[in-house]
Amino acid sequence: MPEKMNKISSFFDIPIEESTLVICDIDETVLYTPLYKGKLSEYTPSLHDIPHPTDIEGFQHLVANLREKNGELIFLTARGNLTDDITRNDLRTVGIDENPHKIFYTNNWMSKGKYIFSELQNEYPINKWNRIIFIDDKEREVKSVYDYFPQIHGYVFVMENT
Ligand SMILES: [Mg+2]
Repeated sequence: MPEKMNKISSFFDIPIEESTLVICDIDETVLYTPLYKGKLSEYTPSLHDIPHPTDIEGFQHLVANLREKNGELIFLTARGNLTDDITRNDLRTVGIDENPHKIFYTNNWMSKGKYIFSELQNEYPINKWNRIIFIDDKEREVKSVYDYFPQIHGYVFVMENT
């Protein structure tokens, strides 16, 4: 198991190789809602919260880089799947076109490592990729991914200037 927790504050710091899958968290990773930062459960967003991007330039660079290298980015959030409309709207609000990206919801029922192991890989092939990257603001989620998949490259996203 990897000992080291890679910490990043920009998506520019994610190294992309040919055929890379990026599994990316949403709340406090690609967007945040200032009013409820650190207070509200991730899976009960309200329509009244206005989300802000964390690093939209870096994110768009990452997506463009993946496109050039036959990669893909999917979202994996602890939000509930009933928030799908709100979640898609939140992503568009911060400047992310969600259409090219699949969105998976854990409903906060299990760790993301366990979700990838027991749910995601059943409906979405993750073994065909050369390199898999997991990005989340919560260290415990990155650890949970390492528990099931030591070969995945985990990154803890730390928000700056927010
Ligand atoms: Mg998060």
